[in-house]
Amino acid sequence: SVAIRAENVWKVYGSGEAEVTALRGVDLELARGEFTAIMGPSGSGKSTLMHCLAGLDVVTRGEIVLGRTTVTGLRDKGLTRLRRDHIGFIFQQFNLVPTLTAEENIRLPMTIAGRKPEPAWMAEVIATVGLRERLRHRPHQLSGGQQQRVACARALVPRPEVIFADEPTGNLDSRAGAEVLRLLRKSARELGQTIVMVTHDPVAAAYADRVVFLADGSIVTELREPSAEAVL
Ligand code: ADP
Ligand code: ADP
Repeated sequence: SVAIRAENVWKVYGSGEAEVTALRGVDLELARGEFTAIMGPSGSGKSTLMHCLAGLDVVTRGEIVLGRTTVTGLRDKGLTRLRRDHIGFIFQQFNLVPTLTAEENIRLPMTIAGRKPEPAWMAEVIATVGLRERLRHRPHQLSGGQQQRVACARALVPRPEVIFADEPTGNLDSRAGAEVLRLLRKSARELGQTIVMVTHDPVAAAYADRVVFLADGSIVTELREPSAEAVL
């Protein structure tokens, strides 16, 4: 079944001399459980596309549907609820709460939603991202890579239908990065989560089922079952 559908999506920032067309009629369909990487040069519209799909940014024209929800028809309250109940985010800037421990940060989205993590899955996620010995640490006591792993665990633990990840391995060494990517792939395959990842790294993209290439706001090509060589 289709988890995410974008139809003729345009995004224009600014106006007059400062006008920038970041997306030019993007059409995209992502199946449930599909792990998709979005690649393309800097400024090609990757972040904008991800922000529009996630309802973090308002499209200028076109339609975006997540599951049964027409994202482009929602206003602030509906968007907040959609993000809280159905979407996980892993951003480059980790947005961890500095006064909370790693474990409290991981639990926070579920605490806010009034839900409880499934203990076995939470333990597995924490072990996979290598945070078992760091649960009582606060963000400033963790390295950048460890903070990124906290952000990954925080997104995965609630098992949202959709996860958006912006350069999730950008601050990790290759071994930790590979572990995070395997975990993302596993959660797509085994939990049916739909994952959209923006990355510059062909090795990271090779973990995805599918790579979509953007150039100047348009999808220019696509690869299925990519190898790192093919992505390069
Ligand atoms: P990428 O993620 O591929 O680097 P972006 O989506 O960040 O590309 O940006 C696409 C284009 O839109 C760029 O020209 C960028 O400068 C512009 N852009 C992105 N966000 C904004 C914004 N909030 N205001 C104005 N221009 C923006
Ligand atoms: P990335 O490195 O992931 O491509 P960017 O540095 O392009 O991310 O963008 C980071 C954030 O800044 C995004 O939320 C994007 O929408 C915003 N942004 C990008 N370009 C501009 C711009 N020219 N003006 C305002 N905001 C921008």
